[in-house]
Amino acid sequence: MPALFRKQREIRNYIKLHKCENGRTIGLVPTMGYLHEGHVRLIRESKMQNDITIVSIYVNPLQFAKGEDYERYPRDLQRDISVCEEESVDVVFAPMDEDMYPDKPLTKIEVEGLTNILEEKFRPGHFSGVCTVVLKLLNIIQPDRAYFGEKDYQQLKVVEKLVRDLSINTEIIPVSTVRDANGLAYSSRNSYLSAEERESALSLYRSFILADKLFKNGNKDSKLLKEAITDFILKHPHVRKIDYVEITDENLKPVQEVKEGDRILLAVWVGSTRLIDNWRIGYAEV
Ligand code: AMP
Repeated sequence: MPALFRKQREIRNYIKLHKCENGRTIGLVPTMGYLHEGHVRLIRESKMQNDITIVSIYVNPLQFAKGEDYERYPRDLQRDISVCEEESVDVVFAPMDEDMYPDKPLTKIEVEGLTNILEEKFRPGHFSGVCTVVLKLLNIIQPDRAYFGEKDYQQLKVVEKLVRDLSINTEIIPVSTVRDANGLAYSSRNSYLSAEERESALSLYRSFILADKLFKNGNKDSKLLKEAITDFILKHPHVRKIDYVEITDENLKPVQEVKEGDRILLAVWVGSTRLIDNWRIGYAEV
């Protein structure tokens, strides 16, 4: 059974004993809970590389924009603890709101050119909230390594730069996206989807395969590929709208001419569920 801490003070004491006094290495997997196969991949990676693995579970109110799904975001701490137990996680840190934010934080973090594009255009304040909670967790836990999924590619890039810019003593380890057998990227928000909506949600992955095929047939024009992706996805029932489809280099700069290794990033509404996904071009075997 993993140790469960709900207060910063408790986990700081644990860290003091195990890291500072006994010199054990610590891997942190930050999550918002409702754990799935994607989270499990991060946990396993951490287990392989560190003496102690800590999973944080915290639905961070600061990173939800007004009118988003903060209230209805799925939560099940007991189930999450069972998943962590199965994976031999050492510690679950599930702080309470009063403990994380005893008063309203006034510090706003911006990573120029990375936090004001793509997701941020549709979720104002999102990345400022993400940066605050990530920095807090890294400060509280002082992990040797922290694990972030490529599923949230923009978040990964933001966190990598933040940690570099501020000389945080933690190595950020990227972990590739885990998909189900049909290609749908695991996400806690998939639990909102009906069976029919889930079928339509597969169009995201299938559009990546289509784009890869076009690319391998010599189509390098970003505009053409984005249009093909958009048209394909919009053909599916329950797809309400597309927030964006963008193709960038690995540092999130949009490209005109696409090359292998560039990224397709998109956000699509299926019914009342907003899904994000991304794809490294030239990766599929088509
Ligand atoms: P979340 O609980 O959605 O905030 O995600 C916590 C961490 O798990 C983030 O670093 C995500 O990028 C990562 N993650 C979520 N879904 C997946 C997935 N399908 N594959 C890999 N990593 C994921």
